[in-house]
Amino acid sequence: MLGLMQSQQLLISSLIDFAERHHGEGEVVSRRVEGDLHRYTYKDVAARSRRVANALDGMKLGFSDRVATLAWNGYRHLELYFGVSGSGRVLHTLNPRLHPDQITWIANHAEDSVLCFDMSFLPIIKAIHGRCPTIKHYVALCDADKLPADSGIPGLLSYEAWIGAQSASYQWPSFDENSASSMCYTSGTTGNPKAALYSHRSTMLHALAGALPDALSMSARDCVLPVVPMFHVNAWGLPYSAAMTGAKLVFPGPAMDGKSIYELIEGEKVSFAAGVPTVWQMMLGHMSAGKLRFSTLKRTVIGGSACPPAMINAFNDEYGVEVLHAWGMTEMSPLGTVCTLKNKHLSLSSPEKMKVRLKQGRGIFGVDMKIVDGEGKELPWDGKAYGDLLVKGPWIISDYFKGEGGSPLVDGWFPTGDVATIDPDGYMQITDRSKDVIKSGGEWISSIDVENIAMAHPAVAMAACIGMKHPKWDERPIIAVVKKPGADVSRDELIAFFDGKTAKWQIPDDVVFVEAIPLGGTGKMQKTKLREMLKDYQLPAA
Ligand code: AMP
Repeated sequence: MLGLMQSQQLLISSLIDFAERHHGEGEVVSRRVEGDLHRYTYKDVAARSRRVANALDGMKLGFSDRVATLAWNGYRHLELYFGVSGSGRVLHTLNPRLHPDQITWIANHAEDSVLCFDMSFLPIIKAIHGRCPTIKHYVALCDADKLPADSGIPGLLSYEAWIGAQSASYQWPSFDENSASSMCYTSGTTGNPKAALYSHRSTMLHALAGALPDALSMSARDCVLPVVPMFHVNAWGLPYSAAMTGAKLVFPGPAMDGKSIYELIEGEKVSFAAGVPTVWQMMLGHMSAGKLRFSTLKRTVIGGSACPPAMINAFNDEYGVEVLHAWGMTEMSPLGTVCTLKNKHLSLSSPEKMKVRLKQGRGIFGVDMKIVDGEGKELPWDGKAYGDLLVKGPWIISDYFKGEGGSPLVDGWFPTGDVATIDPDGYMQITDRSKDVIKSGGEWISSIDVENIAMAHPAVAMAACIGMKHPKWDERPIIAVVKKPGADVSRDELIAFFDGKTAKWQIPDDVVFVEAIPLGGTGKMQKTKLREMLKDYQLPAA
């Protein structure tokens, strides 16, 4: 017997309809490429998203055709989120930090039809436009009078002129909620990049689960700053969860430096911000140099790579801001776990609480996890056994776009490539990426643990631990360190700093001081590049 409930497809267009009707006056504030602050409401987002939909109809774009963006976090990008997906096309967010050759490869693989870009990326467009045969229209996200006469892009359109010529009334179509809504290519550290192809249903369920109190806890009383880029896994779904809850949205545009982010948080009364550790590192540096305080920020979700304990401490103890450590992947839309405390943790001492906060957190409803050993045997949730982490759920990929190379699933589970423990309370802790784990004398050393200890040293700005070939132990850890400006520490002092903080055999054999650690397009340390940088390095003789 079937239930007797209305069957309504879960579609992204319903989010912006809801935000317009229930939170029409809710604000969306964006720092623009032009440098100024743009301010309008969800009512405006909705009207202009409908103009986008009409404009795409005018271009005769078919259902599921790809509309690419090369854009910062901002209001026009938000309108494309709703206008493109809402009208049945697929929003393809391109990562501007990639090399133009990679962007070309990705745009061709996705068979993008339209590319909308912020003017700061015109040089990229100039480099790729002759090499992307499927792209028929280039749209610059600016006013008509800002279009350069000599852009070199034939038929270049101004977004404002393009959507300005359209009606603001549009009937969002209804279709199967399993239809594709957006796509994002993974960083692809090996082989070609691969795309996760999200659906309306997966996006809506992810937005709902992400907004829950023990996940990101979003409400109409929040003012949310997604520093995490809209070109990387839909800014962790925040634009959707914000529309679903009516939270005020604040977008940083291209200004991602510590000072600009701090000023935006203070100026717009941001209560909740989200980003990768490297961004917060810059902001905390700016705050400590200027002895600055937060007046409204309450929570910050930090993910994308492991959040160093020193950062959790700084936010928590110095600034009274709760850190929600979170973990996920492009293939997971991306939210998998969020580290919110349970009642039993509230009475713990600060150091004990810290041990919990350092973990990547509990699986949110909808995400099933398990850890397995090398033979695929499931390991216990005892907080000690570590193994390959596999996940399952309605917003986790079943295959990659154009799925070359067979299904990525193993018995229905997606192997994340991360190595983790899970404790009896369900808190998962990443010990490493499987390819970054250091295998020393048959035992595994977590590069994350080593980095966390180094990062706690007051003179260390950034630390990356990698394994070096060793004749006896197979591999031994060394640590590449960037010093804080004006601070100093010697190799021996830093090695001595590990004493008593970890097992002796897990202490790195050497420290290499570097100017910078290579970061990838999404702010993560690129250990493959670091290994290349240090290819002539020799471990010190024992
Ligand atoms: P991406 O798909 O580019 O977002 O990368 C996903 C990968 O980033 C995961 O598989 C993890 O290896 C890593 N990652 C994400 N969040 C965290 C975190 N909180 N701690 C440690 N690693 C993380």
